[in-house]
Amino acid sequence: MKTVLSKVTLFLIAAVLVISSLGINTASAAGNPFKDVSSSDEEILYLYNRGMIKGVAANMFGPKQAVTREQAATLIGRALGLNGKERKTKFADVQVDRYSSGYIQSAYEKGIITGDSKGNFRPQDTMTRGEMAFLLSRAFNYKKIGHVYFTDIKTDSAANSVYTAVNKIATAGVSNGTGKGTYSPNNKLIREEFAIFLARALNSSYRVTYKNVAFTDLNVTVNNLNVRSGAGTGYKSIGKLNAGAPFRVYGYNGSWAYGISGNMTGYVSTAYLGKATPVAANNRFITLDPGHGGSDPGAVGNGLRESDINLDVSKRVEAKLKAKGIKVYMTRSTDVFHSLSARVNKGVASGSNAFLSIHTNAADAAAASGSETFYSASVGNDSKQLATFVQNRLYKAMDHQNRGVKNYGFQVIRTNPLPAALVELGFITNKSDASKLATATYKDRAATAIALGIEDYYNWKAKN
Ligand SMILES: [Zn+2]
Repeated sequence: MKTVLSKVTLFLIAAVLVISSLGINTASAAGNPFKDVSSSDEEILYLYNRGMIKGVAANMFGPKQAVTREQAATLIGRALGLNGKERKTKFADVQVDRYSSGYIQSAYEKGIITGDSKGNFRPQDTMTRGEMAFLLSRAFNYKKIGHVYFTDIKTDSAANSVYTAVNKIATAGVSNGTGKGTYSPNNKLIREEFAIFLARALNSSYRVTYKNVAFTDLNVTVNNLNVRSGAGTGYKSIGKLNAGAPFRVYGYNGSWAYGISGNMTGYVSTAYLGKATPVAANNRFITLDPGHGGSDPGAVGNGLRESDINLDVSKRVEAKLKAKGIKVYMTRSTDVFHSLSARVNKGVASGSNAFLSIHTNAADAAAASGSETFYSASVGNDSKQLATFVQNRLYKAMDHQNRGVKNYGFQVIRTNPLPAALVELGFITNKSDASKLATATYKDRAATAIALGIEDYYNWKAKN
């Protein structure tokens, strides 16, 4: 009896859940009471059908009407389910009997809104798009900063700047600006914009991917170039770049360029940026990075250790490149451990102008086999070229499957200011691959192929 009852209860609960979830879904699809809202304006209807937003009059939403600061606080309060009970507020100009007082006080307590320097909230002032960025980034606790540039907002690393607030909502996929490379932070916020921003914040299916309208890939022309946190020599240096390092420029502040190189985002003086210069025949200098080593053997399988294979093949590549007159820096030449960041730093400090990390793959499935080469799409096109030239030589020389050239953010290639690739020779966990990697013949074939791929890359560079 008890069992039966609980089954019935469970069924009832399940039925209620199904019915209520259907109810929500149909409500969002149906119901457009507004004459001035198209049924394709899904974000407005999404909010309306959840009771978060209302019209300005019967059948009218008023999409072009400005949003006041108290309206914005009220809408955010409803969206977040804050306490809207009218009450005394922190602000001299928001009285208890104001419809918005409860939401304004709740938003103030949560740190979502602040008043002006005189302790006023200015409830009936129009909200600007810049203020909206502050409101949303605080309300939804956005912290991530991305590579965002708008031509009408000065980039600024200060935590409380308009740029930082706009960057946070753009990185979160809530705003793409005006679509013309501007954000218009001082423009009045209108109701349809507010609805779109809020719906994106609440429902990830409405979000957009921020993309800079334009960027330029340039190269650093001097050694020890400071990357700074702001546009001026007074800002602190966050790292240095050497001649030849790629620098992707998102925008300019006077004579300073804002952009990214490897794991560094910041400003460099435009005086030291130039077009990518062809690599001269006598400036072929690559860092080889045999993966793992010392206390870290890497993958293990079929009686082999990855760190040993990586080092053996790397040394063979080194010898073959040197025989062709290509300079080589090795991050390790013995069985020793280095951190991933140390490997990148050593490669950059060596003065080399490319970086190749050499690894051996592993998988739970013993059937997985073949070689593959990775690049990180975060910086420039050279990394992809290097990966492609190496991969196209390697899989053929190894007589095994071509798993292709892939974009993936391994640390040594993602955070590397040099063009960088990471090659996986084959699978240590696969019987056939491992039996090849155990022989000097195939290790030598792999090394010959990689050395040819690197030469292909430098030949391509000299022409591009
Ligand atoms: Zn590895």
